Amino acid sequence: LFVCFEGGDGAGKTTQVRLLREVLQQQGREVVVTRQPGGTPLGEQIRALVLHGDHVSPRAEALLFAADKAHHVDQLIRPALDEGKVVITDRYVDSSITYQGAGRALGRDEIMALQHWAVGGLLPDLTIVLDVTPEVGRERRGDAPDRLESEAEAFHAAVRRGYLELAAGDPERYLVLDAAQSVERVHAAVLDGVDRVLSV
Ligand code: C5P
Ligand code: MG
Repeated sequence: LFVCFEGGDGAGKTTQVRLLREVLQQQGREVVVTRQPGGTPLGEQIRALVLHGDHVSPRAEALLFAADKAHHVDQLIRPALDEGKVVITDRYVDSSITYQGAGRALGRDEIMALQHWAVGGLLPDLTIVLDVTPEVGRERRGDAPDRLESEAEAFHAAVRRGYLELAAGDPERYLVLDAAQSVERVHAAVLDGVDRVLSV
């Protein structure tokens, strides 16, 4: 089982990943939790370069995030799935399609093709989009600013639209949840969605 959490900054992905992992582990499943960018030593270096290094030009950023995923799938995700483990990832290809494709206006279709090539076509069984408005996202992030803090409202709005479009295009594989709800309510809805995938 391969589950992915997506959503804008401040949507609560990291919290929901942790809660889902606890439940699946209690059910006796082996769970691997990872994140993108990051997740492998090389991936963490790429993450540091893009997020904390000197300014990276938009196309270079898109390629670095694609390289991160290619390596990550090869080294960690595919082997874990082959061993029958559950993999939960905090962001995956859709983050790049929305942040680089829609947010940075590099072209959604181009970034989608690049990302799908990078991961060798491996897509999650379920992608949970924690839908958050730019305003709520900003409140949630609070005083933990990152490099995107300076991005215009329009950037975050484009990212949000990007997610909703992706989800609308493939309702079978996507679950969109209102992330403004309480952590407990979102978690309950996540469990429902995962149960549905596990029971087919
Ligand atoms: O997942 P997390 O919130 O830790 O992501 C770190 C930063 O990288 C965030 O600011 C996120 O918006 C950004 N990011 C990005 N493009 C991606 C993935 C993440 O700009 N494809
Ligand atoms: Mg997070």
